[in-house]
Amino acid sequence: MTLDQKRLLTVLLAAEHQETLRITDEQAQRRSPSVAQRALLAHELTAQVRFADIEDDLDTAVDEATALLEDLHTEVKSLILVEIFGEDREPRSPAEAHEVIHRLTTDQPDQVQESEARVGLAIAGILAGLYLAGGRRVIEEAERQGVPTSALSPAALPVEAFQEQAATVAQHPWRRITRKIEDDLSDQATLARPQITPDEVERVLDDIRIDGSRDQARQATQTTAGQGRIDTVEQTPELEPDQIWSSEIMDGNQCPACEEVDGRDFASLAEARQLYPNGPHINCHGGARCRGTLIFLFGSS
Ligand SMILES: [Zn+2]
Repeated sequence: MTLDQKRLLTVLLAAEHQETLRITDEQAQRRSPSVAQRALLAHELTAQVRFADIEDDLDTAVDEATALLEDLHTEVKSLILVEIFGEDREPRSPAEAHEVIHRLTTDQPDQVQESEARVGLAIAGILAGLYLAGGRRVIEEAERQGVPTSALSPAALPVEAFQEQAATVAQHPWRRITRKIEDDLSDQATLARPQITPDEVERVLDDIRIDGSRDQARQATQTTAGQGRIDTVEQTPELEPDQIWSSEIMDGNQCPACEEVDGRDFASLAEARQLYPNGPHINCHGGARCRGTLIFLFGSS
């Protein structure tokens, strides 16, 4: 290594160290989320966003939804075991077991339908609350920017508005579990065996993690919080944005579409809304990994 190369390396390392210090400092001030991979940009600081608060709203909602999905997950697992092996847990031929699971995928038991409906309704309630919270956060930002906000309230939607989205989340455990068991039982080597035991199927069921369902919940919550945020600005005449930017700070794991749009500014909310119609970026395919949104500088602040 030449002396120049050494100097360059020292400069680069020092810059990286500075960036890390800035991130840590911004996290301590709750301006940055715990997952931040870059320091905040100037406009994110000026807009007085507290990404840690937004992150907390999301995490709380996801935890609540996941607890409901976990119960559903457990219920579905035990119901499938009983459907295949009966209460007395008699071993079955793989073909018999496969027939049962195939019937279940086309004819969902009433008990599961009822549980899914109950969990779906509860998740719709969580989403409606999160939509409100998304709007509240942007009003808080406006207040920190010096906009009078005491008369403002966040955009609200009835629970029914989130029912379809919540139903998709609530249906995930059943879909995931039945598909996995059906796939396993369709395996030629399995079908060739004389019988399978409930213990074996139970092990397969126990290996099916809740993570997929949690991801579904996370995706729904991110969409909803972003939607509440942007709808509130759109519906509140007092919140007239002077400047609007994309901000994809919230996850170091974001998809290329979100990474590409990070920091872009828009001439109007209508223009921004074309890229962020329902909360997240329109071309986002990061699912639960991406957490981008729009941020605003209001009035003449
Ligand atoms: Zn994305």
